[in-house]
Formats: sequence, structure tokens, C-alpha cells
Amino acid sequence: MSGHEPQIKISIPAAASRLLGALRRAGFEAYVVGGCVRDSLLGRTPGDWDICTSARPEQVRTVFSAYRQILTGEKHGTVAVIVGGTPYEITTYRVDGQYHDSRHPDAVQFVPQVQPDLARRDFTINAMAYAPGEGLIDLYGGRSDLHACLMRCVGDPEERFAEDALRILRAVRLAAQLDFALEEATERAALDMRQSIQNISAERIYTELDKLLAAPAAGKVLSRYGRILAGAVPEIEPCIGCTQPGRWHCYDVWQHTAVAVELLDVAGMDDKNARILRWSVFLHDLAKPECRTVGPDGAAHFPGHNQAGSKMARSILLRLKAPTYLVESASALVAIHDGALPSDDAGILNMLNRYGAAFLQRLCRLKLADLAAHARNAGVMQREQQVRAFEGRMLELSATACYTVGQLAVNGASLMDAGIAPGPAVGKALNTLLRSVMEGRLPNEKAALLAALEKEGLL
Ligand code: ATP
Ligand code: MG
Repeated sequence: MSGHEPQIKISIPAAASRLLGALRRAGFEAYVVGGCVRDSLLGRTPGDWDICTSARPEQVRTVFSAYRQILTGEKHGTVAVIVGGTPYEITTYRVDGQYHDSRHPDAVQFVPQVQPDLARRDFTINAMAYAPGEGLIDLYGGRSDLHACLMRCVGDPEERFAEDALRILRAVRLAAQLDFALEEATERAALDMRQSIQNISAERIYTELDKLLAAPAAGKVLSRYGRILAGAVPEIEPCIGCTQPGRWHCYDVWQHTAVAVELLDVAGMDDKNARILRWSVFLHDLAKPECRTVGPDGAAHFPGHNQAGSKMARSILLRLKAPTYLVESASALVAIHDGALPSDDAGILNMLNRYGAAFLQRLCRLKLADLAAHARNAGVMQREQQVRAFEGRMLELSATACYTVGQLAVNGASLMDAGIAPGPAVGKALNTLLRSVMEGRLPNEKAALLAALEKEGLL
């Protein structure tokens, strides 16, 4: 078979090797295939090891009858065999039937040879198979595209994207993960057919965009392939070429967004916080085109883009069926991303009271990413300094100061003991005391707080 390269060696984990060996001893063909071959050839650690085989699903079940199996994918030819707690997907060679909705093949058909199974795969770099002793099967130039850092469809890109529009997003997402570019014809087809991304379920679009935003080359890929991504999020389109005043900006709204995503720092953030930040940066300025006005000075202004952007962020995330915490946090961040920050303790404590430290820390990261994607002038650098100073003092105060009712040295019960009537008066008194403590007029000590009740006429 041409495209067969026996000299190439990939090191395979013992469990996957055992599965290949068992299938082969039973008289079937078997290879590791797809993402694991691609990642191995790139010197990356594969996430999972998928196997393809000439054995039919029931034969796979028999060969591995001694193992625990998951059969949920059996109709599509996949039997997952559990080895040492890890599931390995073993999929019978198959071709996909007709696609009528750019999403699901109407049926799959099992085939006896590996060649058509590789032909149905999305990109050349994902269409290679490997077995120890036999070497690499690379029928579509996958290795050469790996070297050239190119995403290229197997076969005719228009046909492949017409079969399954998810591939358009996979191309862009994988390009972001691998720092690859789309090969010319693949890019052209992706661009021409971007509207068909709308046929994909919201959940899958969300998952692809979420992976893309977390990928190392996310900024570069947003910058290059914004128009393709506008097939998934149409609000991107008017941002491309939407110019901004040169005093602050050196990019149009879309390039600014891409650079901000690239320069966002999520160090020390857990997965959820990092996700909130990435999406917030991606969404923060999408309402600028609809808010754009040109002032008497001839410069563009974007009044109201915070609030409009917050609404837009919410509607995009809801449309994509994003998790609720993401919808809420990202839209709240976008709503104040461009607001001024206080520099005095009372102002900072007010912000802490209203938003909490975690939210404010995210706000600072968002603001720093936003500013880093501005022109580098003294004004911008001064604003960066203000954000850093705010962040530092805010973190100090959040560790030491009292800024919520729950942190007061008195609570509802102690106020009622002191003579405040149960009911709304308790909450009112707690809030009045809190204001006094936050503004430095009272120490957060029980005796002082109780004494103040009388003075403030709250008893
Ligand atoms: P990763 O798991 O790292 O995201 P992967 O390439 O392994 O990357 P999977 O979604 O696990 O991605 O898919 C496994 C393989 O199945 C791919 O390498 C590719 O060969 C094939 N594949 C996946 N999705 C499609 C698709 N929509 N169209 C055609 N082939 C696909
Ligand atoms: Mg995979």
C-alpha cells in the first residue's frame, strides 16, 4: 500500500499495545489512529489512544470478553474496553452514510479495510494509523502537513464541510491548539461555508469555541480567522474593520479583541475562573460597532458599549447554552470592564462589598488584557498602573478589612439582645454599622459597635 512508512516508530502505552496485540492474534487488523498518532508525531502527549480495527463490534466484544466494556457507542462501531481504569475506544473500520443536515450521518457502514476508514476522517493530520512492527499508514500526506503546520481536509474541502459543518470549527480549533494555519483551499471552503456552522447544535459550537479560547494560539487564530468564526458568532463580523481612535488604539475592534485574548494572563486561576476570563475578554467589545459614534473632533467614540456589551455577551452565551456561572460572571464583568476604579480605601471597600474579591481580581485581569491590546503610550501605561495599584490594595483589604455584614463583630442576634426589635430594623442597623466600619469611623469591635447603636439613634 502506498503511504505506508514502516521505518516510523511511535511509542505506545502498554495497555494500547496489549489491545492491538490481542486483536491481531485473533486474526484482525488493528491500529492506533487519529489524534494520538498526530500528537505522537508532533512530540506531544496524546490525550487518549483510539484504536481502529477490521473486527466487527461483536468480535471486539468477544476478544475482550474478560475486560469491562462500555457499549454506548456500539451502533456506531465503538466498543470501549477498560484497561487499568482507562477506557480505550476500539472502533470498527467504517464509512459514514449520507449526511442530510450537515451534522449527523444517516447511517454508518462497517467496512473490512482501513483505507476508507481513513478517507472519512476530517483532516490529513488526523487520518493516519499506526501499528508497531508495521509502521505508519499515511495515505493523504498527513506527515507532510504536520511538517508544514497545515490543516488540510482529506479530499474536497467543500464536500467535507458540507457533510459535517462541525469540521469547520474543528479546523479552526485545532489550528489554535497546534498553532497551525488552514491550507488555502480548506480556508476558502471554510470561509464560503461558514454560515452552515449554524446547523450545528449550540452545545457543540460552545465546546469548540471554549477549547479554542483556551488554546495556546487562540489570539493568532482569532486574528486570522475572525470571518470564519463569524459563522458561529455573527456579532464578530461588524467588529472586523471597525476602526478606533488612534490616541488610544492601534487596532480595529476585532484585532484588539484577538490581541487581548492573546495577552490575557490566567496564571494561578482555576479552570472556571480562567474560562470566565477568556470568554469575557473575547466578548468584551463586541457591542462597540453598534455603539460607535463620531464626535465633533472626528474621532470615534463608543458610548454605552459596556452595558450593550454585557447584554450582547449574555445573549451570545445563552444562545450557545453556556453554563450559568459563565453567563452570569462574564456578562457582569463586561458590564463594568471599562469603568474607572477607585484609589481610596473607602471606594475599594465599596467595590469589595458589592462584587467580592474574586470578581474584582477577574476584573483586573480583564482590564489588563484590554489595556495591553491598546496603543503603548504613557496614558495607557498609567491606566495599567492604576489597575495594578487597585488590585494590590484590594487584595490586601480583602484579607484584613471588614466589608460585608457577615464580617462584622456583631450579628443580628447580638443586636436583638442589645434591644433592636426583630424585623427590618436589624438589617438596617447592621448595614449602618458596616458603612461606619468601612468608612473608618468605627473599629470592628463588638463593644464599640454596640455603643454606636445608641449614638446613631438605632436603638
Ligand atoms: P483531541 O481528542 O485531542 O481533541 P482528536 O483528533 O483525537 O483530538 P477526537 O474528537 O477525539 O479528536 O476525534 C478522534 C478522531 O476522529 C480524529 O482524529 C479524526 O480522525 C476523527 N474525527 C473526529 N471528528 C470528526 C469529524 N467531525 N469528521 C471526520 N472525522 C472526525
Ligand atoms: Mg481524541
